[in-house]
Amino acid sequence: MGSRLGPSEILFTEMQKRMITVVVPYDQLSRTHGAMSKAQPETHQILMIESQNFLSSRTWHAQRLFLLLSAAEHFAIELEAEGFSVHRLQAASVRAGIIEYRQLQPDITLIATQPRSRALQVVFEELGIELDVDDSFLTTREQFSGWAGARKSLTQEHFYRWQRNRLGYLMQGASPIGDVWNLDSENRLPPPKSGYAWPAPLYFQPDDIDRSVLAQITNSEYSLWGSPADGTWATTRAGALQQLQWFLTHSLGAFGPYEDAMPKETWSAHHSMLSPYLNLGLLSPREVCDAAIARFDEGDIPLASIEGFIRQIIGWREYINGVYWLFPENYEQSNSLAADRPLLPLFEDPATTKMACMNSTILDVEKRGWVHHIPRLMLLSNLALLSGVDPQEFLEWMRRVFIDAADWVMVPNVIGMGLHADDGVMMTKPYIAGGAYIKRMGQFCNDCEYKPALRVGDQACPFTTLYWDFLDRNQAAFQGNHRMVQQFAGLRKLNNLEEVRARAKVVLSGLSQGTI
Ligand SMILES: Cc1cc2nc3c(=O)[nH]c(=O)nc-3n(C[C@H](O)[C@H](O)[C@H](O)COP(=O)(O)OP(=O)(O)OC[C@H]3O[C@@H](n4cnc5c(N)ncnc54)[C@H](O)[C@@H]3O)c2cc1C
Ligand code: SF4
Repeated sequence: MGSRLGPSEILFTEMQKRMITVVVPYDQLSRTHGAMSKAQPETHQILMIESQNFLSSRTWHAQRLFLLLSAAEHFAIELEAEGFSVHRLQAASVRAGIIEYRQLQPDITLIATQPRSRALQVVFEELGIELDVDDSFLTTREQFSGWAGARKSLTQEHFYRWQRNRLGYLMQGASPIGDVWNLDSENRLPPPKSGYAWPAPLYFQPDDIDRSVLAQITNSEYSLWGSPADGTWATTRAGALQQLQWFLTHSLGAFGPYEDAMPKETWSAHHSMLSPYLNLGLLSPREVCDAAIARFDEGDIPLASIEGFIRQIIGWREYINGVYWLFPENYEQSNSLAADRPLLPLFEDPATTKMACMNSTILDVEKRGWVHHIPRLMLLSNLALLSGVDPQEFLEWMRRVFIDAADWVMVPNVIGMGLHADDGVMMTKPYIAGGAYIKRMGQFCNDCEYKPALRVGDQACPFTTLYWDFLDRNQAAFQGNHRMVQQFAGLRKLNNLEEVRARAKVVLSGLSQGTI
């Protein structure tokens, strides 16, 4: 027989029930993962801290700041509507906010999900916060390090096949559907010459919360870069789900073939634009993959498109998170090619370049904080790598201006993939290309002052000149790299290397002065 409780005992039990507080960082806005999956309004409170150091530490893209603040505000309000007590603190830092909260509520237990940056991990550990596994990724950190084990090379393609087997996506028993793991060779079409109907991107109407956050940012003293929010990015899970549906309906079908294309008529091509929502926790990779597979099962999506998309999520995205936690803390300081050129002025101000491809891409970044993976890799990073920009300065710029930036995803993508600053730990060869690749995959060169086929002379394409000059300057660094044999054979065949070197000097100094 149960015993009855008196009023003071009931109050005590109520207080005990509320003795757990979940600390929710602004990039873990998920109700169904990690510590939040177990939280109930009757037993848990929520703590969300707006770090003033973070907000005022850099010149952020205006839309990046808007998305972070508005999505967090929406999430807090949704939790309140569910019955949670949500404590929203503005503090100098997350650490300061937690200390302040503890002083107000000394008996409370603080829990959180494994955070998504090393810096926050240190804060949580030092403050003794209990951490739940971050199950919003499909691969836990332990699973990834188990896979990496004693492997000599951490090839993404091997990881991807392991993921396919383990997760069962696009598998028929132990074999991949269609008997082929990777259809990338079918996915490298250049943009169609003309007359192609690209899907029109979705726009989101701002609500009252968005308007108030926008006003807060506009009237703040934060240092901002880029255009203010214009409805390109949703700030709620409902909006993120709408974007997912838009992608499945209008874009997934031709995602594969045009994945690398850089057309003039559209900024979004067939890309999903889901990265900010995945990275903030508004969508989970599992639900995105499940929805894409369900769409594929309807029968009209080519295998090359679904395979390409699933690979981006279960392959690349999970791999990047895995290596971020596997690599040592000082990985982000890597600079194996000793690159020390300050950030080029064109990254801050596109008016300082005559290179049509760079001008157009930086304008796109200014406009919405996003360009797809090929401009990130083969234009922005390629130019930084070829011209020897300091990797940490470039990383810092990318972090400030991209809508989907986060430490775990930016550090390996920039240091390992984009700038090859890690001595090839992540990628066996650098992603470098001259003007010919950009001409083939993009539609910029006809409007450019430079000519992609020329490597010397005033009209030489800076990419083409610098491509050869980079190989020439870095021969020692890549000696013995079997994957670069062909590129160095090409270098040896050049009949005007001295002229290339002379032109490269002019290009490098012009890039630094903002005159190229
Ligand atoms: C130098 C460089 C920097 C990058 N920085 C970021 C970043 O800060 N944040 C970020 O989310 N992505 C980053 N990426 C990866 C990729 O460019 C973006 O995820 C993608 O362009 C986002 O657009 P989307 O959602 O339309 O992607 P889609 O082309 O539709 O691809 C689907 C999803 O796959 C995932 N994905 C694909 N490639 C990668 C990758 N290399 N790393 C992680 N996830 C990947 C993303 O979640 C993306 O949403 C970077 C890539 C490079 C080369
Ligand atoms: S010519 Fe060179 S710089 Fe000009 S758009 Fe083409 S690739 Fe870019």
